[in-house]
Amino acid sequence: MGRLRDDEIAMMKRTNPPIDSEIAWKQVAARDGSARFFYGVTTTGVFCRPSCASRRPLRANVRFFATVDEAKAAGFRPCLRCRPIASSSPLKLVREHIERNYERAIPLAELGRIAGLSPFTVQRLFKQTMGASPLEYQRSLRAGALRASLKRKVSVTDAFYEAGFGSSSRGYDGAALGMTPARFAQGGKGERIFFWAAASPFGWVIVGATERGLCWLALGGTKAEAEASLREEFPAAELKRDPGLAGWIEAAVEAVQKGTSHNQDQDGTKFLDLRGTVFQLRVWQALRQIPRGETRTYSELAREMGEPKATRAVARACAMNRVSVLVPCHRVVGKDGSLTGYRWGVERKRRLLEAEKAASSY
Ligand SMILES: [Zn+2]
Repeated sequence: MGRLRDDEIAMMKRTNPPIDSEIAWKQVAARDGSARFFYGVTTTGVFCRPSCASRRPLRANVRFFATVDEAKAAGFRPCLRCRPIASSSPLKLVREHIERNYERAIPLAELGRIAGLSPFTVQRLFKQTMGASPLEYQRSLRAGALRASLKRKVSVTDAFYEAGFGSSSRGYDGAALGMTPARFAQGGKGERIFFWAAASPFGWVIVGATERGLCWLALGGTKAEAEASLREEFPAAELKRDPGLAGWIEAAVEAVQKGTSHNQDQDGTKFLDLRGTVFQLRVWQALRQIPRGETRTYSELAREMGEPKATRAVARACAMNRVSVLVPCHRVVGKDGSLTGYRWGVERKRRLLEAEKAASSY
């Protein structure tokens, strides 16, 4: 069950039409209480609901936003008078209700009662804020993309980001819900993955590659441990030893020790077969942009991605990284500079960072 059909994906792409600024400006001028967008005033750095009682700004200083998140991402802070942020709470109730009851049919009228709004308004507000209608959201829960995350007890906001939604990822709506066809499905079922393991100064390194590129690079204390990690990740894939991959291991080790830079080539992703949700891919790409010898905190990385509220989702995407070293999740550290966790051991993380620092100081 559960795959989105093409027409459903097309429907998702049509969410959130751009705001017509002509009409929006008239609604602001009229303090229209039914208008469901926000406007920011560039001269004050504050954003408001159209109904705000504050003095009308000059048209030239106004920017419109469909959601609170967008306004905040653009650097505006909420007005203390009209409290644009408080307006999202009925939606939160609706969202949580859907999450609790996703397995049965939920009439819009029921959601309306919960929010204290008309069914039509709930539908419109939900779609505006979430980028998906209540039904689409429910369908994604049923399809499992979000549910898997929820099962791991992460917050819904994180799960939502992980599933490919996100305030500033409008352009990616079609790929929302983690339904990208490129995703590794069911433990790599139907995939043929070639692999090789070799010892290195950082412990045993194992690489795995599909025909499209490198899909796995892990570190282990022993050869058996390294190989077990691959089987765990891709239990359903056909795995074949391939000594021809030894060169990848050398290249990865060299990249760390000598600062050779194919990792940061513009085309660097071409030799990698990275698969994940749109959000995960964005995080992994952001990791690759951290210069060697430097580190970032999760919140810094989230900010650099333009997703300042997604810190925990960013951390989770880092933890899901399958190609360590080359997608340098080891360059992310705790707020106080502590090494925090690392899928392949904190001690290895320390050694990788030390080696990179030494290499980049030449
Ligand atoms: Zn206001």
